[in-house]
Amino acid sequence: MNDQNPILTARQLSKHYSVSRGFMRGHFSVKALNNVSFELARGKTLAVVGESGCGKSTLARQLTLVEEPSAGHLTIDGIDIATAGAAALKTLRPKVQMVFQSPYASLNPRKQIGTMLAEPLLLNTPLDAKEREERVRAIMTTVGLRPEHYHRYPHMFSGGQRQRIAIARAMILNPQIVVADEPTSALDVSIQAQILNLFMDLQQEFNTAYVFVSHNLAVVEHVADDVMVMYFGSTVEYGPKDRIYSRPLHPYTRALMSATPAIRAEDRREKVKLIGELPSPLNPPSGCTFHTRCPFANDHCKQKVPELRSLDGRLIACHRVEEITP
Ligand code: SF4
Repeated sequence: MNDQNPILTARQLSKHYSVSRGFMRGHFSVKALNNVSFELARGKTLAVVGESGCGKSTLARQLTLVEEPSAGHLTIDGIDIATAGAAALKTLRPKVQMVFQSPYASLNPRKQIGTMLAEPLLLNTPLDAKEREERVRAIMTTVGLRPEHYHRYPHMFSGGQRQRIAIARAMILNPQIVVADEPTSALDVSIQAQILNLFMDLQQEFNTAYVFVSHNLAVVEHVADDVMVMYFGSTVEYGPKDRIYSRPLHPYTRALMSATPAIRAEDRREKVKLIGELPSPLNPPSGCTFHTRCPFANDHCKQKVPELRSLDGRLIACHRVEEITP
């Protein structure tokens, strides 16, 4: 595969769940993900940002092949997963790995770290026991764990060390894509920076592409090349990080940015206040789904869904962006 080709392409990716209305009352469809499209180049990072319930974890499950999309196309390393056979999917799975929010919950408490890290090698490679141990010890060193940790259990580690173990497990098959779902939000602030630096170092060494899912814009600012802001299962703003951070345009992005604490006065932004909560997916708003919380909403916003369109070096879904941008 040509290095210039994106390692991951999503086209109009959607995931709808069928939810029961109750006994003998049929079902309705909850649209957790709507027509999401993006490209991710090798060795680059896409940050997917939004509040909980915005569809980012649903997206992560489609990208890691845990769930099948309801519609749209997902192409990984040139293979469209909708048309790939069982053998092609088997070769794709090790190429996409995941790091979860809670390192403790994602590690088996009964297994020693060395055994746990060797499992993906046992399942996916022809390496013998000695070669597996060598590979495990090498990746442990790469992520900053010590040789004596090999025979220890997860409860014997700190939160930051456990996340290093989870990262080692994700990286041991040398994946081309790592999807990290809120990988630092369960950690102390002092440890978060170390884990983010580890992600960056590993990306430089192995040219891994990351999809970094987070509710925290301050965290992704340091790791992202591109940023996709999601609201209610749809993309509302998507483009290069520098563009979006220097001049956020969508009212939702502006509200998220203005809620991010800034130490320097020049980094503080004009406040855009969000009204209310994320609406229920069982009763989605008409028109622009953000209109129930947007301080700039008018009647047109309530009736018509805004298309994602190109403006100022990014894609944005808002009818009124030209009028309301300061
Ligand atoms: Fe707000 Fe209207 Fe833009 Fe939606 S389309 S974000 S409601 S101004």
